[in-house]
Amino acid sequence: MSDPREAVAAVVDPEIRVITIDELGILRSVDEDPATGRVVVTITPTYTGCPAMDVIRADIRRALAAAGHPDAEVRTVYAPAWSTDWISERGRAKLADAGIAPPAPAARGGGVVPLTLAVRCPRCGSPETEQVSRFGSTACKALWRCRSCSEPFDHLKAL
Ligand SMILES: [Zn+2]
Repeated sequence: MSDPREAVAAVVDPEIRVITIDELGILRSVDEDPATGRVVVTITPTYTGCPAMDVIRADIRRALAAAGHPDAEVRTVYAPAWSTDWISERGRAKLADAGIAPPAPAARGGGVVPLTLAVRCPRCGSPETEQVSRFGSTACKALWRCRSCSEPFDHLKAL
């Protein structure tokens, strides 16, 4: 048996395979009942209706079973809502390496930030970018294009 927290933290996001759910900030807690050995995992989806969440739940249970914790429950909490602020520094660096523009930190106070000001081309770093489509390669990403180097790139949708 290994540490259930470690096993869960290593699960990768099925949409953005370079980043773990821990680095993405959607993993809230992992608690093991010392009496029964039952593990309760709490996660917060990146946004409501993200189809990847079903895959993530299944992957968490599989990782825990492989680590010797077959009795596991995955709970989903929606409050407080996930925000891109929860992506770790390491997670942001990995996104940039993968050519995915890391979202800018969300505005304090709940205001809506025009993302066009924040999206930089992951290849050349130019802020001259435009959204081509709200739908990128997966439901959680939008397709953007750089006006400086003309390269298209995926941008993780921010809330
Ligand atoms: Zn560019």
